[in-house]
Amino acid sequence: MTEAPSIQYVKGVGPKLAEKLAVRGIRTAKDALFFFPKGYEDRRHILPLRALKAGMTAPVKGTVVGVHGGHRGFGGQRVFEVVISDGTGRLSAKWFHFHPSLAERFKVGETVVLCGPVRFFQFQNEMHHPEILGTAEEHDPIHLGRIVPVYPEVEGVPPRVMRRIQWEVVHRYAPSVKEFFPRWMLESAGVPPIQESLSALHFPPSGADASMLLSFSSPAQQRLIFGELFYIQWSLAKRRAGAMTEAAIPLHWDKEIVDEIKRRLPFSLTGAQRRVVNEILKDMSHPHPMHRLLQGDVGSGKTIVAWIAALVAWKKGAQTALMAPTEILVEQHYRRFLSLSEGLPVRIVLLTSSLSAARRKKLRAEIREGEAHIVIGTHAIIQEGVDFQRLGLGVVDEQHRFGVLQRATLRGKAATAPHLLVMTATPIPRTLAMTLYGDLDVSVIDEMPPGRTAVETKVVREGERKAAWERVRREIAGGGRVYIVLPLVEESEKLTLRDATRTADRVREAFPEIGVGLLHGRMKAEEKESVMRRFQSGGIRILVSTTVVEVGIDVPEATVMMIEHAERFGLSQLHQLRGRVGRGSRPSFCLLLVEGLQGEDAAARLSVMERTTDGFKIAEEDLKIRGPGDFAGVRQSGIPDLVFSDIVRDARMLYRSREIASDLLARDPGLSHPEHADLSRWIASKDAALPTIA
Ligand code: ADP
Ligand code: MG
Repeated sequence: MTEAPSIQYVKGVGPKLAEKLAVRGIRTAKDALFFFPKGYEDRRHILPLRALKAGMTAPVKGTVVGVHGGHRGFGGQRVFEVVISDGTGRLSAKWFHFHPSLAERFKVGETVVLCGPVRFFQFQNEMHHPEILGTAEEHDPIHLGRIVPVYPEVEGVPPRVMRRIQWEVVHRYAPSVKEFFPRWMLESAGVPPIQESLSALHFPPSGADASMLLSFSSPAQQRLIFGELFYIQWSLAKRRAGAMTEAAIPLHWDKEIVDEIKRRLPFSLTGAQRRVVNEILKDMSHPHPMHRLLQGDVGSGKTIVAWIAALVAWKKGAQTALMAPTEILVEQHYRRFLSLSEGLPVRIVLLTSSLSAARRKKLRAEIREGEAHIVIGTHAIIQEGVDFQRLGLGVVDEQHRFGVLQRATLRGKAATAPHLLVMTATPIPRTLAMTLYGDLDVSVIDEMPPGRTAVETKVVREGERKAAWERVRREIAGGGRVYIVLPLVEESEKLTLRDATRTADRVREAFPEIGVGLLHGRMKAEEKESVMRRFQSGGIRILVSTTVVEVGIDVPEATVMMIEHAERFGLSQLHQLRGRVGRGSRPSFCLLLVEGLQGEDAAARLSVMERTTDGFKIAEEDLKIRGPGDFAGVRQSGIPDLVFSDIVRDARMLYRSREIASDLLARDPGLSHPEHADLSRWIASKDAALPTIA
């Protein structure tokens, strides 16, 4: 359909209806075609009244045996009631806004067909506000004898009218919609062409499988899901391919630097670390930029991997920029890099926004002149005025706090694209990683350094709190440190603050001999950092916190993570928090306190935490329960919102569309074959609607 005829020219739609439809954004026949049902009702069979059960929605047919007009119901409102019988049972149909025209439609002795949800009330079956289908419509192909669409409500347009409009629209216009996917792609995806899909989406064919429709697995729905997922996978495939043609400085390791690194390692690398180091160094040796995501659970040892990569870059005369989201993390990396590199003539500098202007100016000059080899900093690194002489490697730690945009800015800091290593401790399920980071290659550290004891995790119910506090007391007596985390009260920051302050006061009373600190969202960054530092050094030994304790912070002396109202957190978030303990040699504990009415449900959900410490398993669980929106990074990722698809439900189609996108890229990267002309136009129109990102 090239031109889009105004909705007013659809049979049965006059100026009045057109106005009401316009409020919902339906102005043209095309808008209407893409105004999809929110659900379906199976009206293929009229049910005997005896077979009705509360909760089902079904068409029924019967003789009117009673009409009771306009008496007052319980709430004092006027009720209009019609009782029908079909010989097997009776049904009472009720309307709560009486209108005289209703009464005219029902005469005792006449047969009517009604359809609506069944309720059971005072020993009888009822339907409230059922759709009235005259007997003449018994064979109506639109409203009865088929699976009918249920559209989202449009004010002033009754469902039956909406359905009839759509019937007209679909029959007249669906056949002229142009399919832009070539036949081979549709076949490969196993979906029908768009014309057929649209028509089946609105008015499913007689043999359609109602349960497939409800689970979005009908061929018609899969066609739209494929379109959406393919577009994302195609953009990512293009980006990957683009990177392959981009030039980068090849940074090939040599024996000398490898021996030097080996001598300096304070411990031997785990097998997983060795594997990812190989993957990374191999990428860096190519004349095209590396784009690699390094995933590894908290504590799996990503920092040393980054250090090795940075040293290889340095040996090859290239600079490294390492970015982390907070000053504390940046300083932690800086100290570790310094101690690992002690005695080597490599210059490592710290660039944060809290530097004095003079110091910053001097550092910028060093970076520009190439005297600073490894620059570790916050987002200050990507600010204007920081120019590298020869940036060869960019490392981004805790990726989800940086968006795609910042990654792109870092890439732009060098004349030739630097190699890029993105590190994250947030385990991301494979399906999600493919949409979020589909332009990156992925390395995974799936093994913990030896000597770690798993953090013993326990869900603590209301009656067991005392034992939990005993545990805290024992750990403190034994020299340990404790985190107490409170959830953010979403409705009110004041409430949260009061809760946190009160908790901190109580803890102070209970432990007068030690330092107790409080960390909350209202504090300035410097205040937060100073509290964290005192916790690191031991001046504070119990830290009460409302904000999620800084990602990646390393306090090996901390042995207890106690989380209040654990039921309000996502599993992945709890896993992150748990990763703050168990970093030293002492056994550690994670106590998940649940409260309130949902306590038992929550305890069941949280028991996953007791059973596994595998962040990927936990993330898969979370994705199933909460959907992708909650995953850090999804919102800033720059990928378009999914309208039809759900990456958990549609994982199979996601993989398929990725394969098809690579296929297409191999066959016709420029989309210049005539059979891809329409597809090319469609992609261009979608690209134009997107914010531009690198
Ligand atoms: P993360 O992956 O969370 O960033 P870190 O790099 O901070 O983890 O490492 C966590 C701790 O484990 C650090 O104290 C680090 O020195 C130590 N570590 C890393 N790799 C090993 C290893 N192979 N053997 C022993 N300890 C290690
Ligand atoms: Mg880290």
